[in-house]
Amino acid sequence: MFDWVEAMQCSKCRQDAIIWQRYSGLHLCREHFVADLEAKAKREIRQKRMIASGDAIAVALSGGKDSSALLHFLTKTFGKRRDVSIFALTVDEGIAGYRNTDAARRIAEECGAPWHCVSFKEIVGTTTDRIVQTRGDALSCTYCGVIRRHCLNAAARSLGATKLAMGMNLDDEAQSVLMNVLRGDAERLVRTTAPVPGVVPRIKPFAAVPEREVALYAILRFGIFREGGCPYAHNALRADVRGLLNDYGYRHPATKYALKNLGEYLPGVCTGKTSELRVCPECGEPCGDTCRSCHLVREARGG
Ligand code: SF4
Repeated sequence: MFDWVEAMQCSKCRQDAIIWQRYSGLHLCREHFVADLEAKAKREIRQKRMIASGDAIAVALSGGKDSSALLHFLTKTFGKRRDVSIFALTVDEGIAGYRNTDAARRIAEECGAPWHCVSFKEIVGTTTDRIVQTRGDALSCTYCGVIRRHCLNAAARSLGATKLAMGMNLDDEAQSVLMNVLRGDAERLVRTTAPVPGVVPRIKPFAAVPEREVALYAILRFGIFREGGCPYAHNALRADVRGLLNDYGYRHPATKYALKNLGEYLPGVCTGKTSELRVCPECGEPCGDTCRSCHLVREARGG
């Protein structure tokens, strides 16, 4: 996974390098790799004005590499600030043998962050396993993704969060832009992210950090992760786009950054309309004309 470099020295000091950044041409030792990653994330936070005095940041923590790395970075960087508070928030989708909330709790403990856990069962009264049993698994990720967003927002808001930090990395961002292009989904490409009452604003501090660097950062801090794959992972388009981008990006190292920049640029130059939101009378969450989460939960129950 990593471009491990044998007997190469760090481009910034004489220590052994642990990674080679193809896009920058740099070999980096552990110390300079960590400093480089944290500088990228801090720059992203500064440029997007993600964090301000008085913020209570809920970090969406699955217990996997990306979210664990993010919680570590945020508690390390902002943990001593009295005007910013940080807590971890885990959502249990109810997938037997996959979602291990104990791992998330341990990571939160190691980072010294209060930990909260909510479940699909308690918030919408069903689980992903149950949905798959009744509806089949072809659309499992659609149901699961919409309901998880609903649960994260509802829980973060009720816990008083002013920001919801997500562990998405550069690869995730680039994949999302390319997927929207391939689907011809112009509306998503130009949609603006104006603040909406009831929606806790999301921040993505690792959006400029490549996936493999986030993974290495997590492993250096927590050791090897034993993550089993979700049994319902059927998102074929994302898997295809991931392979395509990794292959193309190997030969053209700036591609992922170019796609991320495109995704940020388009909403500013297009007259992207922000959809009007209202409060769903059933669940109390912000929604468009119809509440997608309630619709899917009703569908899953056979209603
Ligand atoms: Fe949910 Fe799909 Fe992710 Fe599994 S792969 S946790 S079903 S979104």
